Amino acid sequence: MSTVVQKYGGSSVADVTRIKLVADRVMRTKRAGHDVVVVVSAMGDTTDDLLGLAKQVSPNPDRRELDMLLTAGERISMALLSMAIRELGGDAISFTGSQSGIITNDRHVDARIIEVRPVRIQDELAHGRIVVIAGYQGVSYRREVTTLGRGGSDTTAVAMAAALGAEYCEICSDVDGVYTADPRVVADAQRIGTLSYEETQELAESGARVLNAQAVEFAKEKGIAIYARATSSPLPGADPSADGTVVRRHAPRQPGTVVGVASERDVLVLSAEREGFSRAERTPAATRSAEAFALQVLALLDEHKVAGKQLHVIGDQLTLVVSRENLHAEARLREVLAASFGGTVRIADTLGAISVVGAGINASFDNVRRGSAALTESGAAIEGIATSSFRITWMIDRARLDDAVRLLHATFIEGAA
Ligand code: ADP
Ligand code: ASP
Ligand code: MG
Repeated sequence: MSTVVQKYGGSSVADVTRIKLVADRVMRTKRAGHDVVVVVSAMGDTTDDLLGLAKQVSPNPDRRELDMLLTAGERISMALLSMAIRELGGDAISFTGSQSGIITNDRHVDARIIEVRPVRIQDELAHGRIVVIAGYQGVSYRREVTTLGRGGSDTTAVAMAAALGAEYCEICSDVDGVYTADPRVVADAQRIGTLSYEETQELAESGARVLNAQAVEFAKEKGIAIYARATSSPLPGADPSADGTVVRRHAPRQPGTVVGVASERDVLVLSAEREGFSRAERTPAATRSAEAFALQVLALLDEHKVAGKQLHVIGDQLTLVVSRENLHAEARLREVLAASFGGTVRIADTLGAISVVGAGINASFDNVRRGSAALTESGAAIEGIATSSFRITWMIDRARLDDAVRLLHATFIEGAA
């Protein structure tokens, strides 16, 4: 019998009516002859609400205690869904991340899964049960409860699918797949039938929330097919790309083709520049060379568990983009940076990132030039550009992001159609 892993996101389990609908979909999957493992997110905005509570108690909440708090969200939905399935005559049992054998490192709040030991899950499946797992959480080797970073239930689902050798992993949400841009922002966004792991990972890292980047990384490593679908959609048929998105190894498209546009609003841009370094005689950093100084900054960020992306250290200049998503002690970060480096390290809090994604997108600079021209013509000042082999990212005023997404979608995707 083939095993199927299904993940239902927060909006799909937001209230009791929806939980019952999910229970029904799970039962249909079971009746179709599969062993079923279900991963659930916290109900609706529960995770945001819990974070809000923590912030009321402490502006810099302790990361371990945050994990103790946040894991409660998924625990509520797993128990309710299990009860709802039982109500429909199914034999379900729920487990926390720790009980499911999800072992992580000990980096609280954005831990990484390092191993899955699904013995208990396999045991229950062998007894014909439906297993419901709390997403977004695990346990460290030190037996501390951890969470996997925002959107981490996707990661739980894919990691579990890999550990169980599942046929596929369905990620069920309020949208019926991955679109060429956030359909809430771009009315003409199109669902993409098939995406490669790399394209999906880049879209996710650029801010397309529909799939979690780390989850895609896991799927790629283990060759697991992801089906991104709407919770309201039928079970996957012979061609799941007809009414959803299939993410799997995929023949490259025409090089230079843009598959999607994504944006990330809530970022901080850290920078330190040459003049800053030489002005730093007031700080201990004055005696260091530029790159030693940069490494000192990075060591401090690591010490405070601040993750960043698009790191550039060139000559005497360092820039780094920090996503606010898993940064829960920003006040402290600002304090320690100021205490250690004075004004040498600056933090810009007005910019957002907009990216276009596609394999071979930078084979020439044509796409960079086209996007930059379109943005400039629209009046958006470009504050930075970064490229990789799959992506071009522009940093612009955060307030203009949605307009820019529509503009670049029109330029690269509607224009290419
Ligand atoms: P869930 O709670 O099911 O995990 P999320 O809110 O994390 O759902 O992700 C689904 C949302 O992602 C959609 O409602 C949509 O607005 C947003 N989204 C952003 N970019 C995209 C995209 N490229 N394709 C589809 N949805 C996207
Ligand atoms: N509940 C968590 C979050 O809101 C995890 C998830 O939904 O995937 O980020
Ligand atoms: Mg999500």
